[in-house]
Amino acid sequence: MSETLYIDGAWRPAISGETREIRCPADDSVVGVVAEAGPADTDAAIAAARRAFDGGPWRATSAVERGDLLLRVADAIDARRAEFVRAETLDTGKRPYESEIDMSDIANCFRYFGKLAAEDAGRVVDAGSPDVDSRIVYEPVGVCGLITPWNYPLLQAAWKIAPALAAGNTFVLKPAELTPHTAILLMSVLDDIGVPPGVANLVLGAGATAGAPLSSHPDVDLVSFTGGLATGKVIAREAAATVKKVALELGGKNPNVIFADACDTDERLAAAVDNALNAAFLHSGQVCSAGARLVIEESAHDRFVDELVRRAEQIRLGLPFAEGTETGPLISAAHRDKVHAYVERARAEGAVIRTGGEFAHGDQGSGDLDQGWFYLPTVIDGATRDMACVHDEAFGPTVTVETFRTEDEAVTIGNDTEYGLAGAVWSGDAARARRIAARLRHGTVWVNDFGPYLPQAEWGGFGHSGVGRELGPSGLHEYREAKHVYENLRPGVTGWFADRGEQL
Ligand code: NAD
Repeated sequence: MSETLYIDGAWRPAISGETREIRCPADDSVVGVVAEAGPADTDAAIAAARRAFDGGPWRATSAVERGDLLLRVADAIDARRAEFVRAETLDTGKRPYESEIDMSDIANCFRYFGKLAAEDAGRVVDAGSPDVDSRIVYEPVGVCGLITPWNYPLLQAAWKIAPALAAGNTFVLKPAELTPHTAILLMSVLDDIGVPPGVANLVLGAGATAGAPLSSHPDVDLVSFTGGLATGKVIAREAAATVKKVALELGGKNPNVIFADACDTDERLAAAVDNALNAAFLHSGQVCSAGARLVIEESAHDRFVDELVRRAEQIRLGLPFAEGTETGPLISAAHRDKVHAYVERARAEGAVIRTGGEFAHGDQGSGDLDQGWFYLPTVIDGATRDMACVHDEAFGPTVTVETFRTEDEAVTIGNDTEYGLAGAVWSGDAARARRIAARLRHGTVWVNDFGPYLPQAEWGGFGHSGVGRELGPSGLHEYREAKHVYENLRPGVTGWFADRGEQL
């Protein structure tokens, strides 16, 4: 029986006794067996989080103490980095090098919110009278339900847990069912450094069973979700019944807009193509902010796309620990089928598959690809705005290519998405790049770059990419309630209603 649920400061099996095998998507090997929670387990975790919020020692901690605790979490992740890296690598199939980067970013996220916890404690408001003390104080929201996806398992959880704890909340985390191991390790870190029972809780299992109570239960005050648009809509609907605070980080279909003057020399072309390659194929495209729409000025199209195809064909797929591997598999067989169906639809709609468009087979020198869920990097040329491949998020190693002639057209295409998570503009003309950046309706816009994010900078989406922001000061405010305290220092008769001196 697997005791991997962490509820009320103790490790437990699922009440039903059910378990789930976790498999590495690179070779389908079993990498662990974990408890499969059901709604009763999640209810127990919510009850523990409620008790810890309403009573217990946690509410009495100061922001400075909570900040210090987060800094210790960061140090503990650093100290146990090898364990975290191995667990993330086995669950996701990404290279240890990429997991290393994730772990550094996660430690930095805890450090950022650790330092922010005690800053910005509120503000004094001028009420217009020396006899009034009016101030805004920030308080925790309460019990937070945190639901996260499988592509950056611990990173996405850290973006929620760090600010939730910094603000003084308690939480129940439900990570993606396919990638639970780093969340288990993080709970053991929180346990080791003495987070009081019930403050941090972990349930593992399927979304519809283990996750669903987090958006419907009346004792949850806030639900913060990162994942697909369809699931986000279900969660928002469920949460409405009890008027929870809702934060949603959903998908993206992110344009990478490239002007000819960004690739008018060999050096510039190499830089723009190289970045477009990373934008599309990093983590095999399983990135919410992937540059999955290449939007290129018509005059530069042929040269640019020829070069992109040449580079895409050189990408070395392989097993995560094999030397020479540059990117790994898709997360599951089902997900690979979904990506392939998307490519087939693009083909049927008249787009041209310049390279890829099929499962990867054989051994490119970095392990047998037939054992896992590998898909070839795919360039879909001749895409137009009416095609599904241009609008739907494939969440795989595919990039569509559209062309434009004018600045206005570039902006129209770049904004033609229901999403609005991220986008980029490349131009050798700084003024033009700024003009375009100002007109793109996305939560993050890169200029002559693609991909960087900073813990100090807000992350989130316009449109259907979500509600609210993670990271930055706004990422902390998501987990706070603002309370106005108005203190009258000289209470007296207001005279609003006349006192007529009559006896009752
Ligand atoms: P998903 O929506 O299938 O699942 C996400 C999480 O929600 C999982 O933990 C899942 O178990 C849970 N879940 C599913 N149904 C649920 C329900 N009814 N109630 C409660 N929980 C439920 O998404 P995924 O396939 O794991 O992740 C891929 C998606 O995540 C992509 O669309 C991607 O763009 C998005 N994503 C967005 C960001 C961002 O910052 N905006 C970051 C990473 C991933």
